[in-house]
Amino acid sequence: MKLLFMGPPGAGKGSQAAKVVEHFKIPSISTGEMFRNSYQRGEELGIEAMRFIENGNLVSDEITNKIVKERLSREDIECCFLLDGYPRTVQQAEALDIMLKDMGTKLSAVVNIVASNDVLFERMENRRVCRKCGTTYHLIYKPSSKLNVCDKCDGELYQRLDDTHDSVKRRLEIYESKTKPLLDYYQKKGILHNVNGMQSFDEVFKDVLKVIGE
Ligand code: ADP
Ligand code: ADP
Ligand code: ZN
Repeated sequence: MKLLFMGPPGAGKGSQAAKVVEHFKIPSISTGEMFRNSYQRGEELGIEAMRFIENGNLVSDEITNKIVKERLSREDIECCFLLDGYPRTVQQAEALDIMLKDMGTKLSAVVNIVASNDVLFERMENRRVCRKCGTTYHLIYKPSSKLNVCDKCDGELYQRLDDTHDSVKRRLEIYESKTKPLLDYYQKKGILHNVNGMQSFDEVFKDVLKVIGE
């Protein structure tokens, strides 16, 4: 089981990835989360990456491919993994193909979560994330039981620096120009599955399980 979750920012990739990870006990690799964690730890890589992220731009292919390559070299991903938010450019997709080929493997399915721009704006502007464990909440659809406190670890919830209106707008433009062309790339390989992301968390999850054949 080697999965890739795609979709515009805010579609629900991270939320569904978390469910799949819990269900199948497979490791997930989220480049966005890796960058945010590195920034929180005060590392140079994270600080450099956040300069791009904050304004809604993509981090360079070079840096992004490098951290994924390092992550994929660890043993825990041998049988299965879930990539969330990587690749986001054709250059990254080609780099990933080479990494997987070198490992003697390939992707089993690409899940593309689809949602309209209105829904995406609404989701990102109300998204809150735990500073400590990264769990994602939504002020209306997935509120924490105590305001601004994580249900899982008591960590503080914050609004991501890139979830402002302007940054969201920019990310959606970049998604259209740089990431959407990848759908064609995976369609041609015959492994692309579209899922309607504009349903409840559980309904989307049911559809995800269906398309990955479980
Ligand atoms: P992505 O990783 O694609 O950017 P997230 O999983 O972080 O998306 O979801 C974006 C926001 O929308 C979060 O606040 C999340 O709680 C909320 N959300 C995700 N899926 C749904 C859904 N099916 N229904 C309602 N809200 C959702
Ligand atoms: P979302 O799907 O809500 O945009 P992510 O956590 O996947 O959230 O990504 C947050 C930001 O991190 C992106 O807007 C981008 O700046 C950076 N990032 C994440 N993954 C990549 C990638 N594969 N290539 C370049 N930049 C990335
Ligand atoms: Zn937490």
